[in-house]
Amino acid sequence: MTIVLSSDALAGLLDRARRDYEELAARGLKLDLTRGKPAPEQLDLSGDLLTLPGGRHTAADGADVRNYGGLQGLPELREIFAGLLQVPAGQLLAAGNSSLELMHDCLVHALLSVLPGAEARWADQGRVVFLCPVPGYDRHFALCERFGIEMIPVPMTEAGPDMDVVERLVAEDPAVKGIWCVPKYSNPSGVSYSDETVARLARMETAAPDFRIFWDNAYAAHHLTDEPVQIADLLAACTASGNPDRAFLFGSTSKITFAGAGVAFFGSSPANVSWLTANNSKRSIGPDKTNQLRHVLFLRDEDGVRAHMERQRALLQPKFDAVQRILEAELGGTGLAEWTTPKGGYFVTLEVMEGCAEDVVRRAAEAGIVLTPAGATHPYGDDPRDATIRIAPSYPSLAELEQAMLGLTVCVRLSGYEKMLTT
Ligand code: PMP
Repeated sequence: MTIVLSSDALAGLLDRARRDYEELAARGLKLDLTRGKPAPEQLDLSGDLLTLPGGRHTAADGADVRNYGGLQGLPELREIFAGLLQVPAGQLLAAGNSSLELMHDCLVHALLSVLPGAEARWADQGRVVFLCPVPGYDRHFALCERFGIEMIPVPMTEAGPDMDVVERLVAEDPAVKGIWCVPKYSNPSGVSYSDETVARLARMETAAPDFRIFWDNAYAAHHLTDEPVQIADLLAACTASGNPDRAFLFGSTSKITFAGAGVAFFGSSPANVSWLTANNSKRSIGPDKTNQLRHVLFLRDEDGVRAHMERQRALLQPKFDAVQRILEAELGGTGLAEWTTPKGGYFVTLEVMEGCAEDVVRRAAEAGIVLTPAGATHPYGDDPRDATIRIAPSYPSLAELEQAMLGLTVCVRLSGYEKMLTT
């Protein structure tokens, strides 16, 4: 959006922004919009978990959950999440408390042991490259950096990653071994992948025989509207396209029950599940089945998860609404910013004027409002347009969030009008 202002009008707007910023800085705020953490009231929704399993210790198959064993995780818990994660229960693992940990382990195991369909371990194949749809999730990028995996950014569209770019890159270079995908209510854009995108990912020709889609379905049940988004079934599409081992699917209850004490899931083809289970058997004699049992008793079934997520939504939606309301009231029609209106998930992406994101984040921090560092949404922390800011509205109270958002819009105005005046 381009708005043409006379220099007098611009000087007036900048003057007001400067005064607003001085007032903001004088208030000595201490607010944090950095990470997508559930608020305490959201954790309270799962308070019963603290008293479950209430002395029970027997799984549906009679296993004593207090003891070793059961590497696949409790079957009754896998049944509850099979539909939501679009993985048959028999091909789903219920693991520890973190799906990020599972993604980490899959990378390490792929580097150190031969994947189904691979000729050699990734560590013995020279360069290893992952495609990274941007904006994306900084912890995915941090994993790649940790293991020396090269990252190539791919632009996001309204329907997921730009598939023309993805198809070209995977077809021409066997070093391209993977792609990070957050297919539903993506972190941070809120985008959900279209059926066409899923179909193209499943059937595209890859130069690498051991290419994997890291399908991080972290927000599978995290709706913010009455029209829950349904994405296509990637695992089924891969199988139907003759690429049954292509997809690694991840999910967790981190933002369903307790972020620090939930259950994480991995789903894939039978060959990949056996591969991961065999590798996992060296690192653990079995997951925390007591935690898994209390999740079964608490959530009960898929409808139980849905009902619980409605209660989460009731707490989250007013916060997402406040973000929209304040952005529209303060920045609407100014030409200074654009933003997403997610239908689910945990984030709003704010696109400020090119060259302004770092400045906005710095000024906000100086006024006591901490945001995710500018650039975090891009590989190597490098947002070439310096324009993307991730807003995480879940953790602060509504009143704090409103203050933080108002303050942020002051910083966007100040930075943007200064930029307009100098260009
Ligand atoms: N993936 C995405 C896309 C996320 O946004 C998050 C949490 N911010 C995670 C994974 C972390 O998941 P877990 O708590 O299961 O490790």
